[in-house]
Formats: sequence, C-alpha cells, structure tokens
Amino acid sequence: MTQVFNFSAGPAVLPKEVLQQAASEMLDWQGSGMSVMEMSHRGPEFISIYRQAEADLRELLAVPANYRILFMQGGGLGQNAIIPMNLLGRVREPAVIDFVHTGSWSGKSVKEAARYAQVNVAASSQAGGFTSVPAQASWQLTEGAAYLHVCTNETIDGVEYNFVPQPPAGVPLVADMSSHILSRQIDVSQYGVIFAGAQKNIGPAGLTLVIVREDLLEHALPICPSAFNWKNVAEHESMFNTPPTYAIYIAGLVFAHLKAQGGVAAMEARNIEKARLLYEALDRDDFYANRVDESCRSRMNIPFYLRDESLNEAFLAGAKARGLLQLKGHKSVGGMRASIYNAMPIEGVQALVDYLNEFAGR
Ligand code: PMP
Repeated sequence: MTQVFNFSAGPAVLPKEVLQQAASEMLDWQGSGMSVMEMSHRGPEFISIYRQAEADLRELLAVPANYRILFMQGGGLGQNAIIPMNLLGRVREPAVIDFVHTGSWSGKSVKEAARYAQVNVAASSQAGGFTSVPAQASWQLTEGAAYLHVCTNETIDGVEYNFVPQPPAGVPLVADMSSHILSRQIDVSQYGVIFAGAQKNIGPAGLTLVIVREDLLEHALPICPSAFNWKNVAEHESMFNTPPTYAIYIAGLVFAHLKAQGGVAAMEARNIEKARLLYEALDRDDFYANRVDESCRSRMNIPFYLRDESLNEAFLAGAKARGLLQLKGHKSVGGMRASIYNAMPIEGVQALVDYLNEFAGR
C-alpha cells in the first residue's frame, strides 16, 4: 500500500489501527456472524458497542454525571438550527442569542440562528481578516441572553481559543468544537453545550456529538423536530430514531484507541509538539506565511500562504508526488492548509516540514 499522509480538514485521517480492526471485524463482529452495519440498533450486540463508546468518551473528556452525551445526525450545521430550537424556550420573547464571530464557521452559526431569534454579534475579528480572538473584555454581551455561542477552533481560518469564555451569570456557553474536540483537555463543566461533527477527530461523517448539561434539556420550542429534540434523544439513549450505527462503532474504536495511547492529555502533548514543528518551519523566513496571531494559532488546522502565489500549483504537485495529500486551502481563503488532527502521526508533520524546507530551497 502506498504510504501517504492525509492533511484533509475533514473527513480526515483516522488511526490506522482503528481501520485495521474495523477491516478485520467487517464481516463478523466478535463471533456474531454479522457486520456491525447489519445489526439492529436495538440488539444486545449494538447496545454493548454504543454503551462502551459512551462510557469511553465520558472517561476521556471527564464528562460530569449531570451531562448527557448524545449521538446525533445532521452535522455541525444541523446543530446551528437544532441549538436555538432546543434553547430558546428558556428565555422570554424577544430572545437574543450572543455570538462571537471569529471566522467562517461561527459566521454560519450566526446566519442560521438569525432565522429563529435576534442575534447579537458581541465581538468580531472580521475587520482583521479573522486572525485573532477578540479579548473577552471587549465583548458586548447581553444579560439574559438565551445562550452565548462560540466556535473554539475555526477550521478554515486556523484560529483557536486559548481561554474559556465567561458568559453573564445564568447564560449557558455553547461551543462548536467540531475540529478540535479530544485534541486538548477541557473542563466540560464550564460549558452548557458542546457539539462536534465527528468527521475530524472522532470518526466518519454522519455522526454528530452533543454534550449537554441536563437542565438544558427542558426548553425545546414546540416546533423542534422530535428527532432533534435533545430531551427526546437523551431519554432514548440516542435511539429515538435509528442512529448512525457504523459511525458510532468506528467512533468507539477511536475512543478505545485514544485511551490506550494515554488519553487526551497525551494527545495534547503530542499535538503541541506537532504544531510547534510546523509553525517553526512556516515562520523561518518569509517564503511562507501564517497570518494568525501567535496567541490563538490553531494546533489542528494550519492555513498558510506562499509569498509567491504563482508557485501554488507547483507546491501542491510536489507535495502530492511525496504522498502529502489534501494541502490545498479552503476555496474561500485560498492558499494552503494542513490539518493535523490526533490521528496525524508526528512523522507526517516531519515529512511536511522537510518538504516545506526543500521547496523553499533551504
Ligand atoms: N463547525 C466547524 C468548526 C466545522 O469545521 C465544520 C465542518 N468543517 C462545521 C461546523 C460543519 O459541519 P458539518 O459539515 O458536519 O455540518
């Protein structure tokens, strides 16, 4: 098999050991004679897979007992609508939702929420080209807001929070952690809701993870679709309707693999080192540039530009020839982007660094 390193932003690289185990169990899961794909979600085999995945994730993120873990569908963008439909019932009309706009994904969240309530952009880094997280002291937050929504890692812009936002008393903090969940230690108790599409650090596309504090399950609007009503989903152990069973199974293998590797703390230490190596190569001279403030550079998604953009195609072709794949930046911002999730080995980052140096003629 050709050795490649896949820097895709998502769907993204998965641990090889996980894919090997899934391959070996594809036709016959643990002597059941069935593939996981063929199992009833209500059968004892799948229920055991589901419960183990839930328990392992709870352990990895130290999720407190008063939080529920939901395995849903609809993606990160689905949650942009599902969240207001579940939380707006907590406040009186006219409801206000606070946002901090730090890049493309929080921008999409603002736009979607505006269909359901009044939105207040409490702070924005748009004027600076989304290269920073505005200091919390400058945020214009709303007392009594339905919630405060932040995207703690902007996948396209490469901006990651290095602090936990503090909303006004009684206002739940909602965080889109799609592209950095499980990459660093977090204190779940500081959040009301954490959500993440699975297709970056968790597993295959089609699964959306939601971690929600129990008291926030009670406020869905009457128009909220039953399958997206968090309380309903929680009461049915994520099986109100058929869950994405195979994606949950793969996510469970990823969680077990993370535990065996030393858990989130070990991942974080490795991710710090991987990001350091890559930023160091980008910063060495002005052949390449990453424009994000050093204080909030993402450890997971690292956009960069060649000083001479006429070399972009040659850069990508040379990378591909060396097995360094999917380095083209998002179409909305151009340039390059290297996503180095948990499953990207340090050897992959080193191979990219070697190529960056070679291409720059160093
Ligand atoms: N939020 C973030 C931070 C993302 O990176 C993405 C996907 N790249 C989304 C939301 C949207 O997720 P989905 O495509 O699963 O709806």
